[in-house]
Amino acid sequence: MKHIPYKTYLPESELPKAFYNVRADMKTDHRPLLHPTTLKPVTVEDLEPIFCTELARQELNDTDRFIPIPEEVQAFFRMYRPSPLVRAYCLEKELDTPAEIYYKYEGGNTSGSHKLNSAIAQAYYAKEQGLKGVTTETGAGQWGTALSMACAYFGLDLKVFMVRCSAQQKPYRKVLMETYGATVTPSPSSMTKMGRSFLEKDPESSGSLGMAISEALEVSMNTPGYRYTLGSVLNQVLLHQSVIGLETRTALDHLEVEADIVIGCAGGGSNLGGLLAGFIGDKLAGKKAPYFIAVEPASCPSLTKGKFAYDYCDAGKVTPLAKMYTLGATFVPPAGHAGGLRYHGMSPILSQLYHDCFIEEARSYGQKDVFETAVRFARCEGLLPAPESAHAIKAAVEEALKCKESGEKKVIVFGLTGTGTFDLAAYQAFHKGLLENTGLTEGDLQQSFRALPPQSEEF
Ligand SMILES: *Cc1c(COP(=O)(O)O)cnc(C)c1O
Repeated sequence: MKHIPYKTYLPESELPKAFYNVRADMKTDHRPLLHPTTLKPVTVEDLEPIFCTELARQELNDTDRFIPIPEEVQAFFRMYRPSPLVRAYCLEKELDTPAEIYYKYEGGNTSGSHKLNSAIAQAYYAKEQGLKGVTTETGAGQWGTALSMACAYFGLDLKVFMVRCSAQQKPYRKVLMETYGATVTPSPSSMTKMGRSFLEKDPESSGSLGMAISEALEVSMNTPGYRYTLGSVLNQVLLHQSVIGLETRTALDHLEVEADIVIGCAGGGSNLGGLLAGFIGDKLAGKKAPYFIAVEPASCPSLTKGKFAYDYCDAGKVTPLAKMYTLGATFVPPAGHAGGLRYHGMSPILSQLYHDCFIEEARSYGQKDVFETAVRFARCEGLLPAPESAHAIKAAVEEALKCKESGEKKVIVFGLTGTGTFDLAAYQAFHKGLLENTGLTEGDLQQSFRALPPQSEEF
């Protein structure tokens, strides 16, 4: 029997030189982004006041399968990539399963997550355009950290709006961002018109990604030489994250292993979209491809409970409308701990793939169950997972246990998106028995669906 090492790395020469743009291979419809006032498909010119020009182009590019990775970005990638593809031998043993379990570990850089892959690309294009700085929002803090690292590297200013409850749960995230030179403001804040209007409605608001996006956008529009950046959801972000899946596929090919099941947690969809990049082309071409599973928290279940509809990407309703699975732009998830999975919508690319059954399955778990799995994983594999990543681990464990029942020797690959080092308050709450498997009531959902905009007949 061939030996599979615990960790597989790729030589530098085999790192991806181009991002993979899945939209070029999606033959089913590309539902366009719609302008928030005219409700016509947006153009690059419409997006240019928001994003830097190259990113606006990437956002709308549905023709080029591959987009070269700039040499400067490749150079930065070489400092922390490839990320390892790990065979979870100890977890397999713990579960006593015939399945082979692999995970692609993206938490090995200082930001602690996969977000750095897009942050460095976005900062590069902003610098290339001669911008002075960028603004953004951050939920759990991983994206803000990643972008602060990237902005420090390219000498850009950065203003971060951090969802208030996350800022309270993770004070050291702020210190980390400030270490890299970013300015961090808890959101909703009194600094912006949008923030003040949210606070007027609810002075105690725990905040949401949707609100923080509105604030970050407002500041970028009002500050000359600034643009806005987003760490997930957008087509451009999935494009940059494709390096995860491309590396995974190359490593598996070297090992002569074929994945049967590919699993990723899904907040805005960037890590799962990135991981799929190594496999989805085959599926879209009708070739043999793995079964895909998206995993979300029961407290923010956009794919499993949301509607496939045109919706705003922010709570202030100033962004373009995207056709996606959404809980409604005004949805404020309960203050659960999987901060990075608390977005009301889902990447339009993943939404369309799920709608067309190219992603076969989405499931959701309560946070208590997720932390149980996270602790079990930490104790046998050593690595402390981010709570977001633990959603994917839980699905992988369930699939491996099914194999134990049936005796099937499936190959399960999941994305381990980050480390839990900054989530110790959440782990502490779990140890104290304070975490419940809170879900949403039908009433909560119906109320936020009522806020969906009227649906276009044309798209
Ligand atoms: C942000 C984040 C996620 C979720 O975001 P996606 O865009 O869905 O990938 C998952 N895990 C970690 C560690 C994150 O930081």
